[in-house]
Formats: sequence, structure tokens, C-alpha cells
Amino acid sequence: MNYFNRDIETLPVAELRELQNARLQHQLHHVYDKVPYYRNLFDAHGVKPADVKSVEDLHKLPFTKKDALRDNYPFGMFAVPLSETARLHCSSGTTGKPIVVGYTAADIQIFAEVVARSLAAAGCRRGMLMQNAYGYGLFTGGLGIHYGAEKLGMTVLPISGGGTEKQLMLMQDFKSDVLCCTPSYALTLAEEIKKRGITPEDIHLKHAVLGAEPWTESVRQEIELSLGVSATNIYGLTEIIGPGVSQEDFEEKGTGSYIWEDHFFPEVVDKDSGVPVKEGEFGVLVFTTLTKQATPVIRFWTNDITNIYYDKSAKRTHIKMGALKGRADDMLIIRGVNLFHTQIEAILEHFNEALTNNYRLIVSHQGTMDEVEVNVEVHQDVYTGMNKDMDAAAIWKHDTIVAIRKRLHKKIKDDTGLTMNVTLMPPASIPRSEGGKLVRILDLR
Ligand code: ADP
Repeated sequence: MNYFNRDIETLPVAELRELQNARLQHQLHHVYDKVPYYRNLFDAHGVKPADVKSVEDLHKLPFTKKDALRDNYPFGMFAVPLSETARLHCSSGTTGKPIVVGYTAADIQIFAEVVARSLAAAGCRRGMLMQNAYGYGLFTGGLGIHYGAEKLGMTVLPISGGGTEKQLMLMQDFKSDVLCCTPSYALTLAEEIKKRGITPEDIHLKHAVLGAEPWTESVRQEIELSLGVSATNIYGLTEIIGPGVSQEDFEEKGTGSYIWEDHFFPEVVDKDSGVPVKEGEFGVLVFTTLTKQATPVIRFWTNDITNIYYDKSAKRTHIKMGALKGRADDMLIIRGVNLFHTQIEAILEHFNEALTNNYRLIVSHQGTMDEVEVNVEVHQDVYTGMNKDMDAAAIWKHDTIVAIRKRLHKKIKDDTGLTMNVTLMPPASIPRSEGGKLVRILDLR
């Protein structure tokens, strides 16, 4: 069986709850004693750590939003002196100053543990060679995966993101077993492999562990087929620890990712009222770290939209989260309708004989209305086939292409309720990931 820490991964839920409650008590006292921000916040709400006896009482406490971490830049949220930290990481932050997180030596051990569990769940084993194409540096992805892979006993190639030529050369020469990167970069690699005529026999990959951005079954299918791998989802965020907050099991694909609840307690709350929703319903994911020493957070508002649920037929007892729809701030509101780009990506699954997963949404303001244009690339084979018989301009007027465009237009309208302009594009005309996360929305408003 593919456990790294079987006892904890299969701990009965009642025992898991006891462990969480004990850890929560300790964590709340720790933040109250050591972080003035939390002491003031709890006092302002008239709550003492002892009032929160169990995870069920967490709702008595207010949320921690990203602003709190930004406003206390750089070290105001630290619960230990800087001299007791072993490492610092930052999240990019869209504007201005980044968010800084710290790790004590014990935090680093926990980070490695949850990543090792995640990689084992993904099908990785001691002795496998992992090509780690997550960015190394301030981003948590590279180093986070690295130490977890070493803990599991893998050999790590710390190649970092980008440098596609070298990625492909080493992947073949070293016979890498596992690829870790963003799903959009895996698509870039898959495409470049095809372009160069590299055959599946030249590639020895068995598993791909992909995350850091939302992706859908449509992209999974394409990556699995073209790289010959089993691709699973890894999720995480800097403020909680980095990658390895949750992970999908390679034998339970599509049923959600296990949240390592002994370290990260999840809630899903309504995005407007903040009230916890029922199990399985969608809302904003909120995490309380239970064991973090250097930068613990209580009820951290991730802004990520998903659902959580127990899966009784699963191998492990920990709660699962569904594939992320996206971040609340990435949600487009078009003529009053909420839209995530992953909804369009999911629709493309029905068009994969003719269209690729290279797409982009362009949002603009026309008159008083917001408009969305969907750009999607046609498959190279389809394009080349047509280009043999006609010039490029004629392709876009050809019945086959016109019919696909109409069908996609209709499917988008049926599934999202929105009328969008659909433009089919030639291969290699939409930006790709060059190693990291890919921005799918171009907002011109
Ligand atoms: P930044 O905020 O600078 O992008 P992070 O690396 O901390 O830095 O990003 C974490 C965010 O990335 C998450 O909150 C989530 O929105 C997204 N993310 C991470 N993993 C996944 C995943 N597997 N699926 C969807 N989104 C993900």
C-alpha cells in the first residue's frame, strides 16, 4: 500500500479529532502568547484560547485574511524570534510587498513529512528519480517538494522550472520516473516532446505530481496520454506551509485530494456570510494550522473555492477536497453570472479531437456590457491536415472549423448561461507556461 505514515493516514476519525483538539489548544495559546496581532484580535472578540475547546468551537474566532499578513510585513506575524527560524519563504503577492512565512526546524520536518505522504499517495516510491520542475527560490514549490522527496527516499533532480530543452534532455538521459511541476508546464513539456518527435519509449516517466494552479480532467487526460504518466493533484499555499496541504491518491483519481488534517484543519465557509457550509457544499476554504511554530495562522481565508467531504470508501480517513474551481478573486462576474476559467476548460474535454487545452479568456468592456472572448487552439494535426489543401485564411471559413466553433459556442452557452465570442486559433498562438503558473485570463477592463 502506498502510505508514508500509515498509522496517522488511517487514524480513525474520532481519534483524529482528539488529536486535532489537543493540538488546537496548544496552537491557540501559542499565538495568543506570542503574536500581538492574535492577542489583540482575540481580546477584541472577547475570546480566550481556553474558550475554544475543540475544532467545533473554531467558528467563535474571526478569520485571518491575507491583509493581516501583508500589514504585519515582514515579521509581525511570527510566533518565534527570527533567530529560531531555519528558513523563510514568500508568496509572490500580486502588488507591492510579498507575504513572508517562517519555518522552525520542526516546521521544516512537518513540511517534509506532509510532502512525503503526498508523494507516496501519488505513487512515488523510494529509489525513484524525481525531476523537480517546480521553481526553487522564494516560492515554496521547489524546496518543499525537494525535502519531501528526499524524506521518502527518492533521488531528486533539482532542475527547477523552465529550460525546456534541458528538461527534455535530462528526462530522457536520466530516465526520470516522476515529474513535478505545474499542470500548464506539463502541457508545455508534452507539446515540445511531440514537436521533437520524441516517442513514449524515450520517456520513462511513470507519475506526474501537478499543482499550484487549477486544472481539470481534460488537462489530466492530455498529460497522461502524451507523457505516459499517472497524473495526480497536489495542493498547497505558502501561508499554510506550501505544497502538500492536500494530495490525490493515484488509485483514487477524480475523487478528491486528502487534506492532511492532523496538521491543517479545514473548513469551507460561505463566501459572503462566512458561515460554515454543509459537508460537500462549495465555498471558501479556510485553514487553521495545528502544529506550525514560526508562522501559525488561525482560520486563514485562502480565497480558494472548493468543497470538502469524507470519502468512506477511501484508503485513508482524512477528509478530501474537490478540485479547485479557482480563487475567489479570479472569479469573473459577467453580466451577473459567476464564471471560473476552469468551467471553460472542463467544456474543452468534449472537443479534444479537434481542440487543444491551450486556451485563454479575454474580458473586455463593450458599451455597458462585459464581454468574454474564448480563444482556443486547434490541434496541430487537424491544422496541418487542412493546411495541405488550403491556405491559412481559408481554414477558418471551412465548414469543419465553423461547425466546431458553433458547437463550442452553444456548449458554453448551455453550460454557463453566457454567450461568448469563440475564436479558434492556429497552433502555438496562445501563451504557454514557461515553467510556472499560467495566467489564463486577460482582463482588459
Ligand atoms: P501565490 O499566491 O504567489 O501564487 P502560492 O504558491 O502560495 O503563491 O499559491 C497558492 C495558491 O495556488 C493556492 O491558494 C491556490 O489558489 C493555488 N493552487 C495551489 N495548488 C493548487 C491546485 N492543486 N489546484 C488549484 N489551485 C492550486
